Amino acid sequence: MIQNPITWPNGARCACAITFDVDADSLIHISRPQDGFDRLNPISMGRYGPTVAVPRIVETYRRLGIKQTFFMPAWCMETYPDTVDLLLKEGHEIGHHSYLHEDPCSHSGAEQDYWFDKATDVHVKMTGRAPRGYRAPVYNVTQGVIDRLIARNFLYDSSLMADDMPYAMQTAAGEVMELPVHWGNDDWPPFAHYAEIGYLMPVRAPSDGLRGFFEEFEAAYAAGGLWLPVLHPFLTGRLARWQQMERWLDSVMTRGDIWFAPLEDICRHVLAQRAAGQTVRTEHLPYYTRPVHLGA
Ligand SMILES: [Zn+2]
Repeated sequence: MIQNPITWPNGARCACAITFDVDADSLIHISRPQDGFDRLNPISMGRYGPTVAVPRIVETYRRLGIKQTFFMPAWCMETYPDTVDLLLKEGHEIGHHSYLHEDPCSHSGAEQDYWFDKATDVHVKMTGRAPRGYRAPVYNVTQGVIDRLIARNFLYDSSLMADDMPYAMQTAAGEVMELPVHWGNDDWPPFAHYAEIGYLMPVRAPSDGLRGFFEEFEAAYAAGGLWLPVLHPFLTGRLARWQQMERWLDSVMTRGDIWFAPLEDICRHVLAQRAAGQTVRTEHLPYYTRPVHLGA
């Protein structure tokens, strides 16, 4: 099923990284820069993430003894420092997720550099280290983003979709790993309802929305792959959804052959396996250097 399987540690059958993007209320401020600060409903919806949901999620992880990855815009780290402290105290990884959830495609290269590096500075100041992994807001990665990650010595990106398994992205300047995502593992489509940013969808029942993720997990488990959901505390961390996630975690943990780990650990393991001779696929970038169209 998978052409390039990885041998996971301790005989584990598959690897799992339940990643959370702690966007909090950055989304309303970046999308409505003039009046977002006074729109208390979306602000409150976002604040639920770092203040109510993240403590709930890490309590589950503590009880189960697992460490995972949380991506945080640096503005959210500054605004919710207790959340950063909690994640660090519990031993979870905090990845780079922009400064204020700005979309790389909406800014010039120089502006992107400025906000990217400002965000890294916040990580260094608050966590004591530069982040090793990156996820682009709304998955919007350009060739410039890849070049920046390579120039900054990042270990991995987790925003692209070219494989089920981790793969290398190589350019003339070097390499960065990709720990791939896809929409079937993202909680925005089933659970987000966000009128202010034009996202009006029927919210699905917890069991309906989560069922898709669990089916994705079973496929990864059967094939010896990697299950990498992209969740948001203010969506999947809500009470009824997290109760079901927690029950599901309790049940799969009894299988005893699933490796739950932060993305950084999974990435380092894949690199070690490649060094030992296992096949890891490489995508050569840039894919294109000029527009593809029907003109001459
Ligand atoms: Zn985000």
